[in-house]
Amino acid sequence: MWILSVKIRSFSERGYILELKDIKQLVEENAPEGKITKVDVEGPKIVLYTDDIGFFIDNNDKVRKLATILKKRIIMRPNAEGILEPEKARKIVREIIPEDANITGIDFDEDFREIYIEAEKLGLVIGKRGATLDEVTKKIGWIPRLLRKSPIVSETIKGTRRILFESSSERQKILRSVGRRIYRKPDAECDWIRVMHLGGAKEVGRSSILLQTPESNVLMDCGINVAASGSDRYPDFRASKIAIDKLDAVIVSHAHLDHCGFVPYLYKYGYEGPVYCTEPTRDLMTLLQLDAVEIGEKEGRELPYSSKEVRATIKHTITLDYGEVADITPDMRLTLYNAGHILGSSIIHLHIGEGLHNLVYTGDIKFGDTRLLEAANFEFPRVETLIMEGTYGGRYDIQSRRRDSENELIQSIEETIKKKGKILIPVFSIGRSQEVMMVLENYSRYEELDIPIYIDGMIWEATAIHTSYPEYLKGNIRKRIFNGQNPFLMDNFERVKSKERHSIIESDEPCVILATSGMMTGGPSVEYFKNLAGNPNNTLIFVGYQAEGSLGRRLQNGLRELAIEKNGRMSNLKVNMGVKTIDGFSGHADRRQLLGYSKKITPKPKRALIVHCESKKCMNLAMTLHEMFGFEASAPQNLDAIRIV
Ligand SMILES: [Zn+2]
Ligand SMILES: [Zn+2]
Repeated sequence: MWILSVKIRSFSERGYILELKDIKQLVEENAPEGKITKVDVEGPKIVLYTDDIGFFIDNNDKVRKLATILKKRIIMRPNAEGILEPEKARKIVREIIPEDANITGIDFDEDFREIYIEAEKLGLVIGKRGATLDEVTKKIGWIPRLLRKSPIVSETIKGTRRILFESSSERQKILRSVGRRIYRKPDAECDWIRVMHLGGAKEVGRSSILLQTPESNVLMDCGINVAASGSDRYPDFRASKIAIDKLDAVIVSHAHLDHCGFVPYLYKYGYEGPVYCTEPTRDLMTLLQLDAVEIGEKEGRELPYSSKEVRATIKHTITLDYGEVADITPDMRLTLYNAGHILGSSIIHLHIGEGLHNLVYTGDIKFGDTRLLEAANFEFPRVETLIMEGTYGGRYDIQSRRRDSENELIQSIEETIKKKGKILIPVFSIGRSQEVMMVLENYSRYEELDIPIYIDGMIWEATAIHTSYPEYLKGNIRKRIFNGQNPFLMDNFERVKSKERHSIIESDEPCVILATSGMMTGGPSVEYFKNLAGNPNNTLIFVGYQAEGSLGRRLQNGLRELAIEKNGRMSNLKVNMGVKTIDGFSGHADRRQLLGYSKKITPKPKRALIVHCESKKCMNLAMTLHEMFGFEASAPQNLDAIRIV
């Protein structure tokens, strides 16, 4: 087997707290004699150096055995003498791997002694039971890392990889110091645990929860409230008196700015620790943070950080797969699970102390059918405390059934096409846009949909990130991407450059336009709207959340005339186009789904804390959970500190 890296995946494999010196001793006692020359840590991973990488390829069970004993993720690394010069290695790779694999890039990371092979057909790079890759590794000494060539190139992913690549030595230093901190000698026994809400309690926005034990300080999410002003925009670090440089770790549930928009700020004020999240979250988060920096500068509402701190965040990010267990402090072990909300979104599970307590924080979840993602995970090894979002947890928050919403969308589109009108759908760049794209793609497979679907704004880039991580998408979409039938590449989808907008607006042909921003607070959706609003044959369709005060919400509420600026002059705009809201596409669980989730979650938690919703809704949902399931349930407010053990 070619795998020289063993992940710890099952709960029973979780180990006890180990210090670096214990780890070294265990390796010494259990490794094949003379084969390991050095033991190090990089973040939660244990790195074993060897002069004989070939031995471990042929005896992969020895690596597995060590991983089982240490109960940690292990990576094997050759010593510097054991690797070929890059040019020679490159030649050998080209010779051994069949041409049909279509290798599109080979790069070498000297510090980590890894070779990155990017190819279209990874199966051919790996070979039967890994034989091809084994042969390559034995000959060149470098550890292979495989990258799938994405059918749509993402500039963000290219940028992230470049930053990681160029800062490789610095990143290795960061990982080593993080690792030393994780496997430090604990000062105190874990006999109490408390959570403090720094933001996002009884409100939607700036989600941030501080989790503390006598030994550790960990932050779950660190968002901003885009709609708020002043100090209400950010989590309240000052009032909570938390020294930012004393934090052990930051965990980001997903890429929406209300969960990660304030993370770069931490690096401006002394934080040097890691950010844990999934790989797609890292890339989507980078895309949104850089966009927020740019918009802030343009609109004179600068964020308290710049692109420099976004880069620092990338360098400090440690990505985890769903289900992979990682030690993050001497008394906390982290596992991320699918949350079903957007690409890469995670439910955070923390095992705290030696079997003392288990906490599940849902982040934002969807517990229902969507085209793009599987529903949220609800089975955990153990749960005592559940912190759950309640965005649509109010008594009357019942969304239409998915199928009905899809039919309604298709019907509106067909009616508008008959009138030779245009359909404008304002969407958030991540999540709703790809979901609507998949609905239209699915429809076009059975019925003729003979019109262009224009994709404008950041949507295309977000879509490129989606297609780069097919393993995070729903099974059938994943399979189609692997088989070269990428549904995001349907002929009808046309990417729009800003200078082409005019000709789309002027054209007589009917079309669908997906454009940002989702709440019509700016961007191409507003530009299209100004030009399409006058014609009664056109239709505006809302598929996502419209915040109080946004143009989207005002139009939803019946606004039919407004003053706009056009070509530098103010004028009156009459809204003659049809305006519709279809609510079944939300990425959030509605009331019914939240109750369903609380019923199904296994094992049953003892306590539930409801966050991420308006005050009344939080309290009502908490009360209902207590009545229905007997949870000790409450709706904390910001700066409440709750002792859970
Ligand atoms: Zn979200
Ligand atoms: Zn959120």
